[in-house]
Amino acid sequence: MLIRPSHQDHEAIRELELATGETLSDCYQCGKCTAGCPASMNTPPSVLIRKLKLGLYQQALDSESIWSCMACLTCSERCPKDVSPAAIIEGLKLIHLRELDPRADVGALGQEFLAQSTQQAVVSGFRKFI
Ligand code: SF4
Ligand code: SF4
Repeated sequence: MLIRPSHQDHEAIRELELATGETLSDCYQCGKCTAGCPASMNTPPSVLIRKLKLGLYQQALDSESIWSCMACLTCSERCPKDVSPAAIIEGLKLIHLRELDPRADVGALGQEFLAQSTQQAVVSGFRKFI
């Protein structure tokens, strides 16, 4: 499949890097972040970083997995390249807030998603929002 990210996607990813102080190109996809992640994420941290490296900004932003992150920082601690997936995820959540996206509303996630999420994920995900 040919992936052609738009200019806007590249710009949004660059802004995310600037806002978080992270350099996505440093990630060499070793998977250590994902291996240590205690959350149940369909799109685990290394995959999220990979999507962003490919320019798939909207896919990363729309990933429900960012709301399963407990902000425990294990991924960032384990990274041998000093990349912080936790900071990237936090940045994506803040973009939802900045854009007043309804997904920043805890009620919009639905009972099924919330029932599958750990209490820590729900609390850490929304502590800035509510
Ligand atoms: S641990 Fe670091 S280098 Fe390895 S996949 Fe995760 S972010 Fe990339
Ligand atoms: S900060 Fe989030 S993504 Fe990173 S290990 Fe913890 S739960 Fe997983």
